[in-house]
Amino acid sequence: MVRHDGVMPELPEVESVRRQLDVRLRGRLVRAVTVDPQARFGAVEKVTGHRIQGVGRRGKYLLAPLDGGLELVMHLGMTGSFRFRDADRWHPDAYVRATFELDDSVMDFRDVRRFGRLTVVTAGDYSGIATLDRLGPEPLSHDFDPAAFHRDLARSRMAVKPALLTQRLVAGVGNIYADEALWRARINPRARRLSRVRTDRLWQAIREVLAEAIEREGTTFRDYRMVNGQPGRNGDFLIAYGQAGRPCPRDGTPLRRIVLGGRGTTYCPRCQR
Ligand SMILES: [Zn+2]
Repeated sequence: MVRHDGVMPELPEVESVRRQLDVRLRGRLVRAVTVDPQARFGAVEKVTGHRIQGVGRRGKYLLAPLDGGLELVMHLGMTGSFRFRDADRWHPDAYVRATFELDDSVMDFRDVRRFGRLTVVTAGDYSGIATLDRLGPEPLSHDFDPAAFHRDLARSRMAVKPALLTQRLVAGVGNIYADEALWRARINPRARRLSRVRTDRLWQAIREVLAEAIEREGTTFRDYRMVNGQPGRNGDFLIAYGQAGRPCPRDGTPLRRIVLGGRGTTYCPRCQR
């Protein structure tokens, strides 16, 4: 189990939640919504009386369009999770921030740390959600173009790891998968002005580490659970993230932890250049 303060679900974790939510929510009618008055959610009650068409994803955002031209945008923050229960069974819980009464069950949004967000927008209009509005391309789609990635990375003038974490070059890569992809591509997290060859290697590594983590239903850390309450299995496969002091599998050098852009970063000082 990887322990680290400030860990957030990244693309593979959110995708695992999306797949389970889609099965439960597609075609369901929202009969009523109750929101914790202290949660600063955007007009979530508006979905009452509307039918959910499905659950999609952009980066770390879950997107549920409804009939009537509305869209429920959900972000797990650090500790957000969804649970389903029967309507006649009530489990009091101080961390439930919103409850959706559906035509076949009840869905609770639970969030201990309160960084999660629920917002209702006009379908496809994300202008009120800046991070989502400016989100870079989906890494596993054809929109993630290696030439554009090289150009945007050079333009950012930032060290490569903090540049990845902005979400503007590519969507959904956070601290865990940035460390993993940089190790796989043999690139120092502080490197700047990467050559096209090195950027291509990173482009490939990002796609590989994310696709493999989705296969394993994400990495489990303290608060992340899927809709069915199960942990993901990717934690056993992490090579760089959270592994400081362990030998690099390529050359045996102890992995080193530094703080870069305010985030803990683990890399191999020998083979990551
Ligand atoms: Zn190494």
